[in-house]
Amino acid sequence: MSIQLTILFTLAGIAIGSFLNVCIDRLPLGKSLVSPPSHCDACQHRLGLLDNIPIFSYLFLRGRCRYCGAHIPIRVFLVEFITGGLFLLAFWRYGLTAQFGITALWCCVFMVIIFIDKEHKLILNVITYPAMVIAVVFLAIHTYVPGAVLMPPEATLINGLISAAALFIFFFLIVLIRPDAMGMGDTKLVALIGLVSGFPLVVFSMIIGIVLGGIVAVVLLATRKKGRKDVIAYGTFLGIGPIVALIFAPEIINWYLSYF
Ligand SMILES: [Zn+2]
Repeated sequence: MSIQLTILFTLAGIAIGSFLNVCIDRLPLGKSLVSPPSHCDACQHRLGLLDNIPIFSYLFLRGRCRYCGAHIPIRVFLVEFITGGLFLLAFWRYGLTAQFGITALWCCVFMVIIFIDKEHKLILNVITYPAMVIAVVFLAIHTYVPGAVLMPPEATLINGLISAAALFIFFFLIVLIRPDAMGMGDTKLVALIGLVSGFPLVVFSMIIGIVLGGIVAVVLLATRKKGRKDVIAYGTFLGIGPIVALIFAPEIINWYLSYF
């Protein structure tokens, strides 16, 4: 695996992270992703080339708008940095294959879901529905086109659909019992996670998300940052599960199989 390609894909991840920031900013508000061009939300000044270099502009401008001094959220930097890191990991894992491209795509989708849920406590249908359709298409190609390896080999269309349906029904029951704790957005998100991971990976995706969410909920309650009645954005944690599971799928599946 060449060092040049590794650097190229990491930089591509950082640049795409910059676009993911636009999605995170605009999708919850129902705004267009392409127009208007990037501008400061505080002073509306259009951003020049130097204000728009991912990661570097944030560090260079010390997190402030060059024109009005308004604070730029640290999330802008984090999303670019993490997306670059995920592309690096995915390329290290899968090399120049279709599985790399698909893993990178799902990292992007879940990054947007994670940060929108964190900031707005919303999981948008405009993301989950198209993502589900794409996931089913990938599964179908992976299962029925000879030689096409798009996912971990264990994943099949039937397997993915059953995983998605099982999770959807389980979380739907939770929503019926505790509508204050979970919403339909979470229900559709776990169905997507089922389609993207398939069994057995989906078990690990869910465990990672649920354990992370549980730890953070306990810490927030213990430090009294949140009360018992506050809503916790579980989508933020559930979305981390499939990212980790997809990148470390071979280790996870080997470890799982070693028990049988
Ligand atoms: Zn400004």
